[in-house]
Parts: sequence; structure tokens; C-alpha cells
Amino acid sequence: MSETSNGRIVKVAGPVVVAENMVGARMYDVVRVGAEHLIGEIVELHGDRASIQVYEDTVGIGPGEEVVNTGAPLSVELGPGLISSIYDGIQRPLDQLTELQGDYIKRGSEVPGLKRSTKWHFTPIAQTGTKVSQGDILGEVQESTLMLHKIMVPYGVSGTLQSINEGDYTVEETVGTIACDDGSQHEVKLMQKWPVRTPRASKNRLAPNEVLVTGQRVVDTFFPISKGGTACVPGPFGTGKTVVQHQLAKWVDADVVVYVGCGERGNEMTDVLKEFPELIDPHSGEALMKRVVMLANTSDMPVAAREASVYTGITIAEYFRDMGYSVAMMADSTSRWAEAMREISTRLEEMPAEEGYPAYLGARIASFYERAGRIECMGTPDREGALSIIGAVSPPGGDLSDSVVQATLHVVKVFWSLQGRLAQQRHFPAIDWLTSYSFYKQYLPGCFEDEARGEEMAVMSQEAMNVLEQESELIEIVRLVGAESISANDRLALETAKTIREDFLHQNAFHKIDTFTSIEKQFEILKTILHFHKQGLAAIDNGVDTKALFALDSRDDIARSSYVEEDEISKIVAIRDKIDQQIKAL
Ligand code: ADP
Ligand code: MG
Repeated sequence: MSETSNGRIVKVAGPVVVAENMVGARMYDVVRVGAEHLIGEIVELHGDRASIQVYEDTVGIGPGEEVVNTGAPLSVELGPGLISSIYDGIQRPLDQLTELQGDYIKRGSEVPGLKRSTKWHFTPIAQTGTKVSQGDILGEVQESTLMLHKIMVPYGVSGTLQSINEGDYTVEETVGTIACDDGSQHEVKLMQKWPVRTPRASKNRLAPNEVLVTGQRVVDTFFPISKGGTACVPGPFGTGKTVVQHQLAKWVDADVVVYVGCGERGNEMTDVLKEFPELIDPHSGEALMKRVVMLANTSDMPVAAREASVYTGITIAEYFRDMGYSVAMMADSTSRWAEAMREISTRLEEMPAEEGYPAYLGARIASFYERAGRIECMGTPDREGALSIIGAVSPPGGDLSDSVVQATLHVVKVFWSLQGRLAQQRHFPAIDWLTSYSFYKQYLPGCFEDEARGEEMAVMSQEAMNVLEQESELIEIVRLVGAESISANDRLALETAKTIREDFLHQNAFHKIDTFTSIEKQFEILKTILHFHKQGLAAIDNGVDTKALFALDSRDDIARSSYVEEDEISKIVAIRDKIDQQIKAL
């Protein structure tokens, strides 16, 4: 390494500190600032003058204080102990920080991301004497009942496996050795490190091929996200962005969930921290937290750390992806991340672009979402991993022309548009069915084992959407010329659209059963709704009066079908027989 020297602070501007005499410093080096050793990162360098974004409150720090360069980029610790953890933006475990210092985090605290004292049972898979290289799985640790943690050869290491031993180890102890091709010796540990701003490599990027089922009806049936896909949820304040993110974190069909609470209110995060540990995963019956990693960087925490939290989160997510898992990451809200970028940029006196955001806003957002994807993992055995990203965007006033929304829409493939109007009507999730979209809809049939059933689901989804579009046109006509002017068929379409909206699209996140609907149950509810519609059209053809048709009590059964337990789906199927009998009787 070239020579480095400690610098001196010459200026403090909010979260940005300028230091001179930083000889040998490189962009993105982590530094310790001032007497309290605040943690910061070099974000601008002119000769030996460095601008540093500081992840902690800079109050009381002043010119003349020392800045020490650690010579290393901002990195996360990857290994057993990540699961169930709750971290701040730079991977300091919140519970240990509070244990150490009470509710206020003392500045400059260094708490490692992975607990040093825990012993993990390591079971080797690879054989000594074999050639190994980056990404190869050497062994496993059962980290939680839901997470079989794969211990992989770190990137950049290759050679012959000399030793590997079963046993109980801390993350720092040596579980084996590799005689590297370059003649050096590498000690294998359960933990490795990775710089957060560098995407972790893969062998190949693969096209999406499968839906990531979320249990949210409007999402799965109409605007699905794929495994490895990207989605955004923009909407005005109070329209349910956070609830959507929570719902996905709870119910999504992924092996690992990384939840980043970025710059939102502290009490929302407290709610999550209270609620999540009590939740049961519907797929396994186990505690949900056994597959969750959380990062909390709330509005009362320093803004630069908010910027880091997004990168810390995505790096942890990539690491689990590389084991061959399907990972889903949520970030709420990416607007707060962008605001952090704007604040830092202003302090750096960079030339602002639209709305004061830096000119590189779009590039940063794009390169974040580009870290999503379905991939062929590095190393052996051959395996595929997927990383899906769902970002909330909170534009001022819900204005979709906002820079962050626009930059996001350029890269994501799913758009769930939350509407203030729907939230006011208490139609939740307030996802607008007419303007939202998904580019992954062709994978919906694949959610079903039975191919014919999958095809039927795709057809039904389209039929239901046609009825909803018909409704929006009919409402216009009714407004212009009155309800009497429309045909019986059109009146039925309006009724069916209402049923689709109220009994299918609407979903109560806070109801024990309604909060999650399996794809099979979504199929049966939708089929029953459309069955009524088709039988209704036939009945109208036969001269049946629409009033009598709309008054049938089988419609009440449809309205209650989302509250039917998952193991009683046959009850929903039975509604269709009842519909047939009742219509026949008219
Ligand atoms: P945002 O994050 O967009 O500001 P929130 O997610 O906090 O909005 O939602 C605001 C409120 O809307 C919630 O506190 C809740 O009362 C209601 N809400 C949102 N989504 C749902 C839902 N799916 N089911 C029931 N209520 C909801
Ligand atoms: Mg919110």
C-alpha cells in the first residue's frame, strides 16, 4: 500500500466534513473523523483534500481535529448471524448498540455486524485435496430452522483445499485452509467481507422465468413481480406504501427477505420491530424472522447513513442470492435515499440538476435496481439465485413527474401506482388497476402445477381486467346520459366490476385470513366472480330481470370468499354450484 497520512478537518458542513493533508487517500475509503472517531467515507477527492460524508451526527466536531484513514472501503460482514438481525445503515446491530449505550447511540461506536461469541456448527461438503475457486460451497451452517447458510470460497481466492473440519466455530475461527494458486495460504472462516458499493459478481445473468408470489391478490393476479424482478410503489403520503412493503416482507415466497427502512418515521420502524418477531411464515409455519434481515435508518438518524443503508442491504441480499436462494429486498423509501444524496451533493457544492438532485441521481437509481436479477451463481455446485427489489417512492404531493419517480420508472419492470383517491375511499391496497403495469405477466401461468389451470388463470386475469376497463368507460357514459340509458349487459358489467374491486382487489392487510391469499385461492375466487358474470349474461339473454339477478344471495357468498380459510377452498368452489341453482330458479 502507498503511504498515507492522517488529515486535519478544515470545514464541517452538516453531514459533510472536508479534510486536508489526506495523503494516499482513495475515493470511498472509510475514515474516522475527529476525537470521537466518527465513521465516514470519502466521497470527493482533490489532491489530498477529501470531502467525507459522515454516518454520524457531526455536531461539536470542528476544524483542526484529526481524520484517520482506515484504507478500506465501506464493507459488510457476511456470514452466519445475519438472519434475524436488525442493523443500522452501516451494519451495526441496533440491539447491541442500545445495550451498550442506552437508547441514544454513542458516536463512533464500533460494534461488529456479526456477533463474535456465537459458535456455529459447521459441516463440510467439499473434499480436501480438491481444486476450489470463488463461490464454491465448502460447507454449511444451519443458521436458523429456515436458513441453511452456505459457506463459500470468497471471491478472488482459488487453489487446493488443504484442510476442512467439522466442528463448532465462531465467525473468526479457521475452519479450513486453501493453498492458493499464487503460493499464499488462505484461512477459511465462516465470515467474509464485501465492499457495499461493488455488486457481487455472478457467472451469468438469466432472464426472469417465475412469479414471486406475494399473497396479495391485486399484485399476483394482475401486476406480478418475478423472482429477480424489480418493482416500485409510488404514491402520496398515507396511501399505503409502507403497508404494501410490510405485506410483501411478511408473505412473499422468498427464502430470505432483506427489509430496509430508509428515512421513514421512527415509530413505523418500531412497529415493525414489535410486530415481525411475532409473525408466522405461512409457507413453513416457522417464525418469520428466521428468514429476515432488517436495516433501520429512520428519519431521526443521520442522513449519510441512510445513503449507506441501501447499499448495505443490497450487499447482504446479494450474498444470500449467491448461495442459490431467492431473496427479496424492500426499501422504504427510496425517496429518502435520494434526498440524502441531494443533501450531500449540496454540501459538496455540486451543480444541481432537476429539483436540486444531483445529475447522477438517475445513474445511481439505475445501478441500484440493476443489482436485482436472476443469476447463475459463481462456483460449484451449479445453482441459481434470484434477487428481487421492491422500492417505495414517496414523491412530494404524489406527483409522478417527480425526478425520483421518473428515474425509477426508467429501470423497474413493475409499477404499482397508489392513488390518494382510492386510499380516501378506504380501498386498500390503493393500487390503481387502470394505470399500474407489470412486464412479467406472461409468467403468471407458471404459478400453477397444472398447465391448463395456469392458462385459465391468465385468461381470467385478462377477462377481469376487461370488465374493469369496461366499467371506467360505462361510468363516463352514465355520467353523461344517465343510468337508464345502458343495457342490462352493461349493468351486469358494472356489478361485476364492483365485485372484482370490492371482493378481490380490496384486501385487508390487518385481517388474520385476508392478509394472505394463496395463488390457488386467488384462482378460485376469481373464477367464481367470473362464473357469476357469465351465468348472469346467459340469464339476461333468457330474459331474466337484472334486479332479481343482483339480489341473489350467492353474491354475498362471493363477498365473503376472501375470508375462507386456506384449507377450505372447496367452499369457494361450491359457491359456483349455488350460483347455477339460484340462476336456474329465476
Ligand atoms: P404511506 O407509507 O404511503 O404513507 P401507510 O402504508 O403508512 O402509507 O398507510 C397509511 C394507512 O393506510 C395505514 O396506517 C392503514 O390504516 C391504511 N392501509 C394501507 N394499506 C392497507 C391495507 N392493505 N389494508 C388496510 N389498511 C391499509
Ligand atoms: Mg410510509
